[in-house]
Amino acid sequence: MKTDIEISQATKLAPITEVAEKIDLTFDDLELHGKYKAKIEFAALDRMKENPEGKLILVTSINPTPAGEGKSTVTVGLGDALNKIGKKAVIALREPSLGPVMGIKGGATGGGYAQVLPMEDINLHFTGDMHAITTANNALSALLDNHIHQGNELNIDARRVIWKRAVDLNDRELRFITVGLGGPINGVPREDGFDITVASEIMAILCLATGITDLKRRLSNIVIAYTFEREPVTVGDLRVEGALALVLKDALKPNLVQTIYQTPAFVHGGPFANIAHGCNSILATRAALHSGDYVVTEAGFGADLGAEKFLDIKVPNLEKAPDAIVIVATIRALKMHGGVPKTELSAENIDALTAGFSNLAKHISNMRKYGVPVVVAINEFISDTEKEITLLKELCEQENVKVELASVWEKGPDGGIDLAKTVVETIDTEESNYHSIFTHEDDDLTEKIETIVQEIYGGNDVIYTKKAQQQLASFKKYGWDRLPVCMAKSQYSLSDDPSKLGAPSDFDVTIRELVPKLGAGFIVALTGDVMTMPGLPKKPAALKMDVDEQGNAIGLF
Ligand code: ADP
Repeated sequence: MKTDIEISQATKLAPITEVAEKIDLTFDDLELHGKYKAKIEFAALDRMKENPEGKLILVTSINPTPAGEGKSTVTVGLGDALNKIGKKAVIALREPSLGPVMGIKGGATGGGYAQVLPMEDINLHFTGDMHAITTANNALSALLDNHIHQGNELNIDARRVIWKRAVDLNDRELRFITVGLGGPINGVPREDGFDITVASEIMAILCLATGITDLKRRLSNIVIAYTFEREPVTVGDLRVEGALALVLKDALKPNLVQTIYQTPAFVHGGPFANIAHGCNSILATRAALHSGDYVVTEAGFGADLGAEKFLDIKVPNLEKAPDAIVIVATIRALKMHGGVPKTELSAENIDALTAGFSNLAKHISNMRKYGVPVVVAINEFISDTEKEITLLKELCEQENVKVELASVWEKGPDGGIDLAKTVVETIDTEESNYHSIFTHEDDDLTEKIETIVQEIYGGNDVIYTKKAQQQLASFKKYGWDRLPVCMAKSQYSLSDDPSKLGAPSDFDVTIRELVPKLGAGFIVALTGDVMTMPGLPKKPAALKMDVDEQGNAIGLF
């Protein structure tokens, strides 16, 4: 079997204008970035709203393990397979972040014969969206520091600046820094820090904005600091939302690419569903919904993080709920949830699979709480045995959930036909009755957090640190106590402790700190010791990367 990059480089791509034609977009609707990538102009997005709306399929998964789950792979393969059975399907994916690409993940564009292309461009600089977001983020930092340096008319307390700088790399050295050293001509010294770009509020705003006007409104609402009287200071107070929107104007346009089998794919918006809301942008998902009869989209990490945020944060903004949810599981990962170490996953292990199934069962029951029909996709690995596959199907049947084997990584669309048919049949026969998991829409922050912890994670109580308690009190004073919550939690466990695999019970979740993101329109709740700037592992994926004399990438997975 060839590597992902070898498959990608051996594929003959169609010019992006031809891919666009499939969804009735002309040359004038596109802003071309070379031969195979394009952005879609705002006028075309407006026109597309007149088209009928397709069905939305959300792909999510069990809690990830180092064994790999293949959510993007199944998302892409399902889109291709739907086209193969004669449906008009398009794909909506988030953009990769260079941090994890260089770190542990390698590519984030699917794998095997289920990939979006050109994979090396998408995984590196793509159409420059990450650059624009990073620049807007850091322009705001520069303008804020300059304001303080130039007389501080807004009376900002430099010790209470909450706006951080950003870079799209895993760089632990930048988590806590000091800026403005070197005497008065070099600014006002203060503590600062960097977040990874994809976890920044600008990324969240770009993903939720419905157009330039909404982008400006959201940028203006960003809280950057507090005054000496502890009153919030916003971007609107600094009067720079126009400049920031200008920097972001092209990044806001959705990107169009294709799969190996030339299915149109809208790749736009940030990943990182552990610390951000982490899904494809509203504008891109909307464009996709008006381009195909079926849209396959992905929410990051496990269903406790990505899908919960998709359903609780994105759906109300998108004004469209999924018609079906596909939960991806692998036999290898379930065996890890059942206690098998990574080195022993290739051996058949019925007991471990049975024990680890608890993780999948919890996610099935969680997704059903939203009233959306669920299908399980087993992403087949070569090491899976007949006995294991039969057992996993039986366990799913006991949960009364439809289950199909997906072999799209190995066989492309042909390996996804059964899954595609089952998903279509599910949408045709089972109604999606999406509803929120919160008792009341205006539940306060603590009620919302408690609901997520108890209903989705399966935990007992929520514990607030002293800092979080003080923040809750001041957020109430500012009138922010009924906003949606974006949980930041370890992706590896249903709990806030990454070592608790399977379906842990009898645990509490600690809220360490709350971060207001008024531009995005939610409050981030940081649990356990989750970081908003990841570090690199001992042997980063970067060690395998290279480039040849012709400029072709090597080792990007
Ligand atoms: P996720 O979206 O869950 O992070 P990806 O789809 O990005 O996972 O896949 C992660 C890696 O695992 C990719 O390099 C991909 O090629 C590989 N992979 C996915 N599915 C399979 C499979 N069935 N067999 C072998 N490798 C796979």
